[in-house]
Amino acid sequence: MKLNTSALRYLTGEDWRVLAAVEQGSKNHEVVPTPLIQQIAGSKINTGVHRCISNLAKVGLIAKVKNARYDGYRLTYGGLDYLALNSHRKGNTIYSLGNQIGVGKESDIYVVADADGRQLVLKLHRLGRISFRTVKSNRDYLRNRSTGSWMYLSRLAAQKEYAFMRVLHREGYPIPEPVGWSRHTVVMDFIDAFPMRMIDNVPHPEKLYADLMGLIVRLARNSLIHGDFNEFNILVKEIPAPTAKDPGALRLDPIMIDFPQMVSINHQNAEFYFDRDVAGIKRFFERRFRYTSDEPGPFFKDATKGSEKLRHLDIEVEASGFSKKMAKDLDRYVEQIGGDATEVETSNDPPGDDNEDSEDEGNEETEEAGAAVDKEEDFDLTETTANDADDTEGA
Ligand code: ADP
Ligand code: MG
Repeated sequence: MKLNTSALRYLTGEDWRVLAAVEQGSKNHEVVPTPLIQQIAGSKINTGVHRCISNLAKVGLIAKVKNARYDGYRLTYGGLDYLALNSHRKGNTIYSLGNQIGVGKESDIYVVADADGRQLVLKLHRLGRISFRTVKSNRDYLRNRSTGSWMYLSRLAAQKEYAFMRVLHREGYPIPEPVGWSRHTVVMDFIDAFPMRMIDNVPHPEKLYADLMGLIVRLARNSLIHGDFNEFNILVKEIPAPTAKDPGALRLDPIMIDFPQMVSINHQNAEFYFDRDVAGIKRFFERRFRYTSDEPGPFFKDATKGSEKLRHLDIEVEASGFSKKMAKDLDRYVEQIGGDATEVETSNDPPGDDNEDSEDEGNEETEEAGAAVDKEEDFDLTETTANDADDTEGA
């Protein structure tokens, strides 16, 4: 789903207030009745509320729904995108919007910049976009899903990703610095590097391999498993490391991204996820770099041995507000669809399962990952008077 920002600058403060009211009403109404929108938006704009509603519906930020009992409106993904962008703008997280650099399986990735020109990435989570169409069991699971729960899950994914990124960044893991989150979006540092899957050869595969296995083990010792640790979610940064013999030598530093599926080593399927992360890297190195390590493992048992004495980052994340209940809701969804890996070479889908419309868009556009913000678009927004209470949730 494209992020169409063309209407951003034309919304008035009252439009924003009404949009926020529809969002708030959606928390307990699948279809928000017009009088409720009016009530939440406040008496100040009583007279104009219908005009605002019609403005917002015209640009697709809310959609009219005829329900058996009453007519009303629901927030669209576009509306949620606008609310999130507006929060990031007001929180000074984002100043300008650049190109889309990635269409992940369940996200859209844009390069953005803050007021100082620092390049950042805006990740918009869009859960249920592709898996809904590709995996049969998902269709069964998602069949009765309301728009509200799609948004709920996308928000959960963003909240979880941000919570994990905060903790991992603080602990010095090589990941993009998290800058903020709002609703279904996370803003983080832009990493000027290619995903590992785009790299054809490396001078010392054994070094990169050891670094990656080292990361898997380090996470496990901190009670965590990435859960989708593969060539799509590892960016490889080239750092000049000149030596006397080789002045042009480069060091390759892996940077992890994509955290909504992280699990604790106490998760019931922890060992499975751990082994899958390890096996994915092994397989990739064999196929791509013709490299096989002499050493077996790493194994879950060894990696987690003695970890009880170390930092339990899973618990620290929980303490940040991402609760067990939230984790469970999201888990249930993630377990249904698997990780990026299930869409590429390692597909476990039974043959013949109707994958014909399985989108091959996964990460294709990341070829431009190094592109700078070249089509800057300032947020020339009319100052909003909407209720600021539910703003950038963590900046
Ligand atoms: P998904 O969950 O959809 O797989 P990812 O977080 O893996 O989303 O992002 C998809 C792609 O976008 C990545 O493979 C990478 O190429 C690019 N990307 C994501 N985050 C960043 C970042 N912080 N810096 C640079 N590129 C990024
Ligand atoms: Mg990914």
